[in-house]
Amino acid sequence: MPKLADKLAGMSDNPQPSVDYASLVRQIRQWGRELGFSAVGITDTDLAEAETDFLNWLGRGMHGDMDYMQRHGRKRSRPAQLVSGTTRIISVRMDYRPPGAHNSEDILGNSAKAFISRYALGRDYHKTLRSRLQKLATRIEQAVGKFGYRAFTDSAPVLEKPLAEKAGLGWIGKHSNVIHRNEGSWFFLGELFTDLPLPIDPPSARHCGSCDACMRACPTGAIVEPYTVDARLCISYLTIELRTSIPEKLRPLLGNRIYGCDDCQLVCPWNRFASDAACEDFGVRNGLDDVDLLDLFRWSENDFDLKLRGSPIRRIGHECWLRNIAVALGNGAGGAQVVDALQEKMKHSSAMVREHAQWALTRLSEKLP
Ligand code: SF4
Repeated sequence: MPKLADKLAGMSDNPQPSVDYASLVRQIRQWGRELGFSAVGITDTDLAEAETDFLNWLGRGMHGDMDYMQRHGRKRSRPAQLVSGTTRIISVRMDYRPPGAHNSEDILGNSAKAFISRYALGRDYHKTLRSRLQKLATRIEQAVGKFGYRAFTDSAPVLEKPLAEKAGLGWIGKHSNVIHRNEGSWFFLGELFTDLPLPIDPPSARHCGSCDACMRACPTGAIVEPYTVDARLCISYLTIELRTSIPEKLRPLLGNRIYGCDDCQLVCPWNRFASDAACEDFGVRNGLDDVDLLDLFRWSENDFDLKLRGSPIRRIGHECWLRNIAVALGNGAGGAQVVDALQEKMKHSSAMVREHAQWALTRLSEKLP
């Protein structure tokens, strides 16, 4: 999490009185499209309803070990407390599904392969989105003069999804991701907090209706009720956020998912309308869309650091990488090479890696006739 004080851009006290803000919004949308955003919406800072939902979710302990969720008090739901002077949020979305990536269902159906969430197959999105948001701010500044702003992309205490819903970029589905009826849900979100008095967009209406496909598809039952995900059960949390042992009872449910999980999005009917990424940063790197678990398990720490430079996966570190792959290997069909590789990891310096390798060996031996 960046230090906010280090990141604050100067908030202007005097938005230009002569500016035609309706016209400026039209220009902002056009500039956004030129910068590769699939949509731009504007909203105000009132997140009262989302704040109640968020506090309830925290109160139920569903954030698990993500202590950072509790930090910053109500700044997360009160943008003007996070960045003084903020009156509007410019919310953007950018498609990330890598064009030409190997079919997800094929990979999920092959227990020797590693499944990695689509968003993580290419470059880390934080820099890409932030630099484009900065370019958008620069264009606005060239048009109206100095103004106050700050760019965010999943890197600070911001309730991105409720802001996007309010800004008309899509509705929050029962799986808690934002969906647009013409674009599906395979997109990143970013925000420019600003002090410009821009006209706001109408919020998106919800269109899940009676569908519950994502709730039924979730391998661990993490969508405990419509619109509520218990992170402690969510495979994305277990494989990315959790830095300790994966609870044993959940390990068999992970299958071959070693970094994130897309199941709720894969079954969502609105994703029939989704577009592939236009930004080349999100293209598949290192063949991660179709790779054997064993190949990845053999990567040394040095390999991991080198091959995943610039990838969002790198942030979980080599130890959690091995932990996740050991679980996936234990869920697979085994074989002499897999057993040898797991036994090799029984000499690893990390007790967590050794424990997960042992679990996998035991599980494989229990499957033997
Ligand atoms: S799968 Fe169905 S219930 Fe889930 S988010 Fe998509 S439309 Fe909504």
